[in-house]
Amino acid sequence: MNTYARLPVSFTHGQGVWLWDEAGKKYLDALAGIAVSGLGHSHPAIVKAITEQAAKVIHTSNLYEVRLQEMLADRLCELSGMDEVFFCTSGSEANECAIKLARLYGHHNGVANGAIIVMEQAWHGRTLATLSATGNRKAQAGFEPLVPGFIRVPYNDAQAVRQAAEHSRNIVAILVEVLQGEGGINVADTEYVRLLRELCDEHNWLLMIDEVQSGIGRTGKWFAHQWADVRPDVMPLAKGLGSGVPIGACLAAGRAAGVFKPGNHGATFGGGPLACAAALATLEATEKESLLPHAAAMGELIRAGLAEALAGVAAVKEIRGKGLMIGIELDRPCGELVRRALEDGLLINVTAERVVRLLPPLVISAEEARELVTRLAALIRAFAAKQAA
Ligand SMILES: *Cc1c(COP(=O)(O)O)cnc(C)c1O
Repeated sequence: MNTYARLPVSFTHGQGVWLWDEAGKKYLDALAGIAVSGLGHSHPAIVKAITEQAAKVIHTSNLYEVRLQEMLADRLCELSGMDEVFFCTSGSEANECAIKLARLYGHHNGVANGAIIVMEQAWHGRTLATLSATGNRKAQAGFEPLVPGFIRVPYNDAQAVRQAAEHSRNIVAILVEVLQGEGGINVADTEYVRLLRELCDEHNWLLMIDEVQSGIGRTGKWFAHQWADVRPDVMPLAKGLGSGVPIGACLAAGRAAGVFKPGNHGATFGGGPLACAAALATLEATEKESLLPHAAAMGELIRAGLAEALAGVAAVKEIRGKGLMIGIELDRPCGELVRRALEDGLLINVTAERVVRLLPPLVISAEEARELVTRLAALIRAFAAKQAA
């Protein structure tokens, strides 16, 4: 179906931060398949884990015990301080799990028709419930009736959440990204994240932090909320978890743990041996190669480099982000930059119309990061100059 406005290029193979197209042209990949390929392309640990597991068994279903799924759940709980995990195959599905969990949690606690507070500019997926939670009218248009039970408030505004609490008696949870990705790389204040934690404790709501894009080391911590030193009650994951093998996860802790019983939720493909082998190898390599401090350092290098290289360019409004989740906001729509960069052998993305988004592999070297800065800054300067003329 015609669901994507695709760019006219197809890649045949990759290595680290580099991809090659059918004509043999080489590209610097500053997008990593939308924050998926954190270890870059063809990482030997992932290739080994997948090929070895494929030769043993790929799928058995959740009618049986799956050892690799148990091991992955243990590891994710260790890294996050969470208590239990449900596995699925995408970010939308991980958020669906969170939404169903919050409703059932409310139901168990005598709250009928539980409502979830969600944010403006939020992105939680494209299934009907997650699309309804998403704060993007363009994505929602035509798909009404949307799923009810969401209360939308401005992002990074604790007062708006307090006001919502005064008007509704049936709130069961807050669903929030601590760093909005699709919404334009908007970073929430640490103080705001801590206030959300307090409000949830005060009202017995679940704090559900969508780490689908910001998780698995992307911001320089395993999970972006760890910068604020809080623990969520529910945490959906996906993108970077399996290095490209589809896997999603929804983690729960404290009062959110134990809500689901057999029969409440499920997924045929969820947590299969192949995907879990890929995810375990991803976590192991991320740790072994010290990619968390590396991602933080490369993020600083890129942001500082861009700030210097783009100094005095009036069209550049702000350079922001955390770790390797970076946004460059321009004063005008700049979707056209994606095509220009592609011609130039550079893969970038534009989100929220005016924000150039960079999500390079976590393994990007300092030299590659400097090359990215030089090439992108030249493109943005030329774009700004042409538009001004
Ligand atoms: C990408 C994304 C999703 C949706 O994930 P899919 O795998 O595309 O379903 C949900 N939440 C956030 C924060 C995302 O970035």
